[in-house]
Amino acid sequence: MVHSWRDSVPLSDEQTLVRDSIREICQEFDREYWRERDENEEYPHEFVETLSDHGWLGILIPEEYGGAGMQTTEVAVMMEEIAANGGGFSAAQAVHGGIYNSTPLVKYADEELKSELLPKVADGEVAIQSFGLTEPNAGSDSTSIETSAERVSAEQRSADPSDVTASEDGDEYVINGQKIWISRVDATDYLVLMARTTPREAVDKRTEGISMFLVDVEEAYDQDALEIQQIPKTASGFVHSYEMWFSDLRIPADRLIGEEGRGFYQVLDGLNEERLAIAAECVGLAEVSLERGIEYANEREVFGRQIGSNQSIQHPLAEAYTETLAAKQLLYGAAETIESASQKETGAMANAAKYRAAEAAFAAADAAVQTHGGFGVAREYDVERYFREARLTRIVPITQQLVLNYISENVLGLPRSY
Ligand SMILES: Cc1cc2nc3c(=O)[nH]c(=O)nc-3n(C[C@H](O)[C@H](O)[C@H](O)COP(=O)(O)OP(=O)(O)OC[C@H]3O[C@@H](n4cnc5c(N)ncnc54)[C@H](O)[C@@H]3O)c2cc1C
Repeated sequence: MVHSWRDSVPLSDEQTLVRDSIREICQEFDREYWRERDENEEYPHEFVETLSDHGWLGILIPEEYGGAGMQTTEVAVMMEEIAANGGGFSAAQAVHGGIYNSTPLVKYADEELKSELLPKVADGEVAIQSFGLTEPNAGSDSTSIETSAERVSAEQRSADPSDVTASEDGDEYVINGQKIWISRVDATDYLVLMARTTPREAVDKRTEGISMFLVDVEEAYDQDALEIQQIPKTASGFVHSYEMWFSDLRIPADRLIGEEGRGFYQVLDGLNEERLAIAAECVGLAEVSLERGIEYANEREVFGRQIGSNQSIQHPLAEAYTETLAAKQLLYGAAETIESASQKETGAMANAAKYRAAEAAFAAADAAVQTHGGFGVAREYDVERYFREARLTRIVPITQQLVLNYISENVLGLPRSY
């Protein structure tokens, strides 16, 4: 591994420890491991379990709940390392939800739920890997979600003679609707679900009336109230994504996280931090792509000399390096100031970092594929997987166009275009 040119951002002792520990774990999972996962579209259970056993899924959970109580920079270091050490964007995505989906619980769940669940998440006993927002009619326009959650009181339920559980269980929400593209449903115990408790037509602002729930996936299957179907896809194939259908799913009212109708604001609350972690995953993908490109450029000889001695091979790699370095500086700069900067400043930086990092990943993966010539599309050299993933980073979790919309409107003061 050529680490020296990657280690360009000064890290604290704690961050260095994170970097070195994750690097060490990643060494146990070689190129062959990731190639097999990709070919067979198998979720990397062993990898996620190893991280989980070492407590890394609890990196953001406060120490009082058994977690490591670390901050955004440490998560960025962790995610960059996972991607850069061969796993790529998909390996980081395999654990991303497990880290970020418990953060709204830390901020908004009541004490009882927090003390019951967070220590189990921190020590890997329970996984909260899935977050359900997107719907067939609500992708980028996420406030258009239609999945509904209707509160039914214990009295209403007692009036229903068929409801034998009414007196024991108290108030409930009844959930109906459809979600799409929801990742890691096969690797989770709980799903953080966004649903409308008030229809869009009945609220003053479209961001109101959406609530956040914690759904026990096994319980949903037991009720026969959940169906899922995997979506076949060409990138990140080993992190499965699903369509989900909810029909009369009943969940206890205390599984509402935070305030009814304020769920969308709760999501926005941690969005910049999470966006920086995504940027770090893209930077890691750019780095591993560059590393493979450089390796092959030095190794392969054509016309009796290394292909890396041609400027047409050197320059795209060097150019992608400058983009990667810029994205990396931007993301770590933003992560370091996140506690003191205003939400507006952080929003500008986090969105710019995600945009630049995805473009850097694309440039690096493209250069790596071209450097490999025909082997650029051969599975055994991995760069074709990195290229597929790099393309995906321009789409998820938010498209590049929507990032530019945000910057145009909120940073440059241009009129809202949509
Ligand atoms: C692999 C994968 C995993 C995912 N995992 C999850 C998950 O776990 N949970 C979850 O909730 N969601 C998940 N998603 C959904 C993801 O967040 C959405 O795909 C993404 O937000 C884009 O929405 P969309 O696909 O509906 O595109 P659309 O909103 O239909 O957009 C289509 C195109 O039109 C462009 N466009 C739309 N409106 C505008 C505008 N006003 N200005 C400029 N351009 C515009 C978009 O940028 C895009 O290029 C996942 C998606 C994928 C592909």
